[in-house]
This record gives sequence, structure tokens and C-alpha cells, in this order.
Amino acid sequence: MELNILTVCYLLGAITFILGLKMLSNPATARRGNQIAATGMIVAILGTIFLYRDDDGNRLHNHGWIFGGILIGGVVGTLAAKKVKMTAMPEMVSMFNGMGGACAALISIVEFNRLIKHPSWTIYPPLSSLGPSAFEIHLPNGELLIILLGLMIGSISFAGSMIAWGKLNGTIKDFAFKGQHILNLFFLLLMFAGIAFLMTNIQRGFFLDIASTSIAAEVWVKLIFYGVLTFALLYGILFVMPIGGADMPVVISLLNSFTGVAAACGGFLYNNKVMLTGGILVGAAGTLLTILMCKAMNRSLANVLIGSFGGGAAAAAGKQQGGYKEIHISDAAVAMAYANKVMIVPGYGLAVAQAQHACHDLEKLLNERGVEVKYAIHPVAGRMPGHMNVLLAEADVSYEKLEEMDEANEEFPSTDVVLVLGANDVVNPAAKTDTSSPIYGMPILDVELAKTIIVNKRSMKPGYAGIENELFFRKKTSMLFGDAKKVLQDLIAEIKQL
Ligand code: NDP
Repeated sequence: MELNILTVCYLLGAITFILGLKMLSNPATARRGNQIAATGMIVAILGTIFLYRDDDGNRLHNHGWIFGGILIGGVVGTLAAKKVKMTAMPEMVSMFNGMGGACAALISIVEFNRLIKHPSWTIYPPLSSLGPSAFEIHLPNGELLIILLGLMIGSISFAGSMIAWGKLNGTIKDFAFKGQHILNLFFLLLMFAGIAFLMTNIQRGFFLDIASTSIAAEVWVKLIFYGVLTFALLYGILFVMPIGGADMPVVISLLNSFTGVAAACGGFLYNNKVMLTGGILVGAAGTLLTILMCKAMNRSLANVLIGSFGGGAAAAAGKQQGGYKEIHISDAAVAMAYANKVMIVPGYGLAVAQAQHACHDLEKLLNERGVEVKYAIHPVAGRMPGHMNVLLAEADVSYEKLEEMDEANEEFPSTDVVLVLGANDVVNPAAKTDTSSPIYGMPILDVELAKTIIVNKRSMKPGYAGIENELFFRKKTSMLFGDAKKVLQDLIAEIKQL
């Protein structure tokens, strides 16, 4: 009976995850989707704690440890999520993702050590034809493979996410050296070799052959097991270290999918359906997001996998393009107040300035004057997927006003004024024209198709990819310098006077 209730809890969990994920795809339902999936997760966790029984019918007994862990993790997680600034969200995502990877790797380590405990290294009589030293450990090959995969993927995800976290908050700088890709591949090969070796030789009794006692054999097995762990950690570090410039989002979502797969390994291991479903969903969603991000940034997945992109992006700078034109608040206000259609292009600077509310106020004011206002959202504007959608949703901007890149590009020719607010790389025409540019091939918002372009930023400094932006020097473009929030407030005040 209890088992049936537990199965229902897991089913509920799985259904809410899928429902939640579906609802996350629309900003209007995303918050509710998150709450629904979280509720399903709570049901599944409580069900496991109170209803689970092992093969011998024993319940979980270490409630002190479990609730102690939940309490500490819950408090730290809640405080971190409440305090985090919008601009630091990717760092937090990376950190939490790394913790998931570490969890999966720890599960593998604990299970491996439990299952190869010395007493289980017994001579395996039916295999005595293989020689007197043939033995078995109580570990079916399938389980061993899952443990090893969980170890490898979880450790890569943990190490890579920690490096991504450090790079995003500026404590770790890009680091690359000649032959790094070869070394990465070498570590990858060593990991696979270690796994293949353990898989083929444990049951065959190889380790007892080379060791005088089963304790010594166990030391050999552990040596290779922890070797796989070490190579996985090194690979995770070296794989993310050189990545910089515009390629970070791809890496973060790829690592996210790794963690999902590692968690799914845990689900297989414990025959826990909800863990399996959750892991597969995270793995699949992360992989799809990775592919979409690759497309949005014109990077191939193969390049991501051997860590061979983006290193030079942050360093590369375009050539100075000549003079640029400045515009004053009053002129910008007139241009927008008397336009038929205004498109706002938000970017990272909008998040830094926390100017989303002021931006919405400007939109409402222009609307009152009969000006049509829409927002053009580039898929990698800001510092994480969906950054601008979340930011604008926080200020109650209607989702219907948000245009995705392709739609927006169709609308620019009929737009009178484009107001670029703290965006840079995502409107850089070099992505289309300059084959030597690190962002060449990345789809951009074609703001130049509009009649007038006003760019707000604080200086002529480059954006995330570290490259000059030709747009700022084009004839149709005017620069409106200043902090985005202050500029928007001044624009609002000015338009009210008109
Ligand atoms: P960029 O980083 O290219 O440019 C942001 C601009 O905002 C800067 O040039 C800066 O110029 C300006 N700015 C900063 N603070 C303010 C402020 N207070 N007021 C006004 N302007 C300000 O941002 P984009 O959004 O155009 O592009 C995103 C970049 O980040 C892409 O390269 C993308 O690949 C990358 N990225 C995206 C992720 C994602 O998932 N979305 C994750 C990680 C990276 P100035 O200093 O002169 O003010």
C-alpha cells in the first residue's frame, strides 16, 4: 500500500515537472510553472523520506541527517536567491548547477565504495575455470557503468560550473595555452580508457591476478576509479578555462544538461523513477537549449565539446571607425514623442542600471501620445538566456510587446526610432560583415533598417565580446550617453514637457 502511494507521489512529481517545464516556455505562465514543479518535487522528496523501503523492507532511518541537510541547504538557497542581483543570476545558476553535478559524483563515489567493500571480493566459484583468482564483486556491470558515468559527467559538470562561476564574477580570467585542445582530448580519452578498463577487468578477476590479496586488488580498483574522477575534474576545468567572449551561455546550458544526465544516472542506480524523470528532463532541456544557443551565437556543438571556441573573443578588438554623433536628451525626446513606431532594444546595461521600471514608464508615456512601442529581444541579450524577458516581466511590461529576433528584424524597416538601451554585441553589424570578427556569423538585431537609431550607454567602451561596434559610427546612429535609468528618467521628464 505504502509503495503504491510512493509510486503515485513519483508519478505526481513527474507530471508536475513536465507541466512546469511546459509552462516555463511562456513568460506569462513561467512563475506558476516553477511553483507547480517545485510542489511536485516536495511531494516526491517527502514520499521518499517517509514511504521508501529497501529490498529488505527497511525504512530510511537517518532523518536527522536528511532534515539537517534540507534545512541548511534550504536556508542558504533561499537567502542566496533572495539576495542575488539580476545581473548575477548566471553566476548563481552556474553555482547551483555545479552543486547538482557534485551531488551526482558524490552518489557515485559513495555507492562505489559501498559496493566494493572488502567482504564482497569473493572468489567466484562458477568462474573457477578462469583460474583460482577469478572473483566477483557484488556489482552487476550495468550498475558499474552507471556509477562510472555518473562520476565522470557529474565531476565534469561540477568542475566546469565552478570555473564558469568564477569567470562570470570576474575572479577567474580566461586561460589558454598551445595544445590545450589536445590535452583536453587526452584527458577525455584517459577517462574513457579508465572506465572501459574497470568495466572489462573487474568481473574477469584481473585485479586479483595482479595483487597478492583482495585488499591490494581493491586498492588497484580504487586507484583507477579515483583516476577517472581526477581526469574528469581536470577536463571540466580545462574545458571551460579558455572560453570567453560571447560563448559563455552555450557552456552554461551544456553543463546544465550534463548535470541532468548525471542525476538521471542516480535515478537508474537507485531505480528511482522521479529522479530519472527529473534528470532526463534537465538533460534534454539543457541539450535543446544548448543547440538553440549554438544557433543563436553561430557556434558548432563540436567546438563546444572540445572546448575550442571563444578564447580570443574577449581579447579581439575591432578597429576604430572614425567619428560618432551625439544626441541630447531634448532631441531624443522629440524624435520619440513624434514617431509612429519606436522599438526598444534592451541589453545588459539595462539590467546593470536596473532601468526596467523607468523603461516601462517611458513606454506607457509614449503609448499615451499614440506612439506604438515594442521591445526587440535578442536571444543572448544580457548575461543569461531569457535575461531580458525576466527583467521586463519584473516591471510588468506586457509579453505581447516583446518581439523575438526574427519578428523584430521584420519590423525594423517600418520603425521610426530604435532606442538601444545598454545593448552592444547583439546589435553589432560586424557579426554580418566582418569575417575576422569573433562574433562573425552570430545573428543580430538589424536595427540599422530603422530610420533613426539612438544608442544609450555610458561610454564608447565595448560590450561583453570586447569588440568595437561599427553601428555607433554609422550615419543614422546617434549616441545618448549616460546611465540608462537616469537617461530614461530625463527622457520621460522631457517628453512630459512637449
Ligand atoms: P553587451 O555586454 O554587449 O553590452 C552591454 C553594454 O551596456 C556595454 O557596452 C556597456 O557600455 C553598457 N552599459 C553598462 N552599464 C550601463 C548602464 N548603467 N547604463 C547604460 N549602459 C550601460 O550586452 P548585450 O546585451 O548587447 O550582449 C550580451 C553579451 O553577453 C553577448 O556578447 C552575449 O553573448 C554575452 N552573454 C550572454 C549570455 C546570455 O545567456 N544571454 C550569458 C553570458 C554572456 P558602457 O560601459 O559604455 O556603458
